[in-house]
Amino acid sequence: MGSPAEAAKCTKCSEELDTTGYPLWCRKCRAAHKREYEQTRKEMYTNQAFLTGARTMRQSLAVAFDGLGGGQFSGVEISDLILRAPLPTTDQAP
Ligand SMILES: [Zn+2]
Repeated sequence: MGSPAEAAKCTKCSEELDTTGYPLWCRKCRAAHKREYEQTRKEMYTNQAFLTGARTMRQSLAVAFDGLGGGQFSGVEISDLILRAPLPTTDQAP
């Protein structure tokens, strides 16, 4: 059993533990962990949304070019077609 002189310590920063329960982290460390967790979660969602958008745009361009059939196009024409292609909507996402 601990006495006041042997107060429990935060397992992250070794400061005096000012919380109960698990994990054995102080309030400051729990708050920092929560901030980092939320930031990581936002980055994961952002990355996933970016990838979904890129894949959807690629698929949309493939469908648009496929609709042009056979033929020869210059790089300038292809570039123009890409720039004029409508942006896909969220319901087109894979
Ligand atoms: Zn701590």
